Amino acid sequence: MADVQNTPAPMPKPAPKKKVPRELAWVEQDGCTGCGVCIDFCPVENCIVPIPGQEFDTVNPLVEVVPDLCIGCKICVRECPWETIEMIPNSEFGKK
Ligand code: SF4
Ligand code: SF4
Repeated sequence: MADVQNTPAPMPKPAPKKKVPRELAWVEQDGCTGCGVCIDFCPVENCIVPIPGQEFDTVNPLVEVVPDLCIGCKICVRECPWETIEMIPNSEFGKK
């Protein structure tokens, strides 16, 4: 029988390194209806969120992208029925 007590524990796998996307999604607030479709399709939890302060005030709060969570997959751009999400260079995020 194998001596399990002296068997070294397997090394934990290193956490996958998060790549920094070149572009991030950005919601043009003037065109957003707050429909929430982008939230449903975004593969990253809590990456698209109601704008703070609006979430309890309106039925359909406008949304914004959390840049630190966005992986730049562009799914939201494709799925937004109002074509109000665009991809902008990572370096430009927060300047608009
Ligand atoms: S899918 Fe488009 S219109 Fe709907 S909440 Fe998202 S950004 Fe706004
Ligand atoms: S680009 Fe992808 S990860 Fe970023 S907000 Fe859109 S759906 Fe979410």
